[in-house]
This record gives sequence, structure tokens and C-alpha cells, in this order.
Amino acid sequence: MASIVNIGRRVELVPIDTHFKDITLALYRQQLHARTVYRVHTYSRLDGVPDRIQAVMKSMCILGGMQEISDGLLCFPCGARHEAACRRVFLEACKYPSDAPVEPRPLQILDKKSQLTISVESVGNGIYNVSSNGEGRSATRRVAAIAGGLKKLGEMNTDAENSDDSINFSCGHSHDALVGLLLVRAPNVRVILRQEEASASRGVLSAPSQQT
Ligand SMILES: [Zn+2]
Repeated sequence: MASIVNIGRRVELVPIDTHFKDITLALYRQQLHARTVYRVHTYSRLDGVPDRIQAVMKSMCILGGMQEISDGLLCFPCGARHEAACRRVFLEACKYPSDAPVEPRPLQILDKKSQLTISVESVGNGIYNVSSNGEGRSATRRVAAIAGGLKKLGEMNTDAENSDDSINFSCGHSHDALVGLLLVRAPNVRVILRQEEASASRGVLSAPSQQT
């Protein structure tokens, strides 16, 4: 008989894991002493489920710079919540088959819209500076837009003095892998947030009782 444990509050859901028998995977958040911890969970009892959960957790550690602390729990090294970012790490991790190689994303992308190379540099204390290989007003505007995208996706803050190109995590820690992961989405942040609102309103976030 399964023991009933408090697994916390569900914060994200993958209704159909196409890489493993179409099971439903969910991300739960709970507080453990001073730290916010996350658990990948499914109600499925199919053979191989624990291995799939373990593979998703391992991918989250690589893609998001998270760490497994104990008993299937993940957290960021700083212990802060970073919930929006963690949800994205979970969604990305679920896109990989269990045996696929997973690597952290670089802190540099080619922005398709401007054809500029956008770089993000960690300068310590959780502060990141965004820059491009271009010059002029349009490059400055594009850098500001992408810094704004990162800020939204990562629930980051802007620096009062360099508000266009400098953003920071309030925990004061660096999260390079996480920033690399968010950077891929940052140029299209508006489209992404709109899609997510649409899918949420279509009822993709079904109740646990409807999960298999
Ligand atoms: Zn942090």
C-alpha cells in the first residue's frame, strides 16, 4: 500500500509525456525549512516510471543548475523559490527522452529577429549583463527587449542605474544554466506567455483526479 505523504502544491503539469507511455508528469513545490524544494511526480504505476522520474530530475539538474537534495527532492543551490524559472526547467526537461544527452545551454544566442549575437555575462552576486555584437539604437533596443524577456521569465529584477541591460536575481546567487535556458525563450517572451495563457484557459491544467 502506498503511503500518503504531503507532496506540496502542484505548480506545473505535462499532461502527456510522449517520451514515456503518455503518462502525466507534474511538478510539486513545498517548503522544507528555509528552502523551497520541488518534486517530480506522477500517479502512474506503470513499470519504469521511477526511472523516467529520475531521468527528468537529472535533466532538470543539468538544464537548470538544480541539485537533488534527498528523497526525490530538487532545489536551487540558493534555496530560493524561483518558481516561474523552475516550471520552465521542468517543461524543458520533459522534452528529452530518458536516454538523450542533455547539456546546459550557453549564455549566448543568435537572435533571429535582429541577426545579432546576444550574450549574457554573469558579473557575480546574481547580476547578469546583456550585450550584443551590434551597435546603434536598434541593437540597444533589442538588448533591452531580451533583458526584459529574461527578467519576466526568470522573475528577475532590473538594476536602477543600468535598467536596460542589467538584471539580477534577488537571492544574490548566480544561476548560469538557468539563465542559458531562459535566454532561448527571451526573444519571444510575449508570444510564449500568450501561448501559455491560452493553454491554461483551455483547461490543460486538469485536476489530479483526472490524471492517469
Ligand atoms: Zn537563487
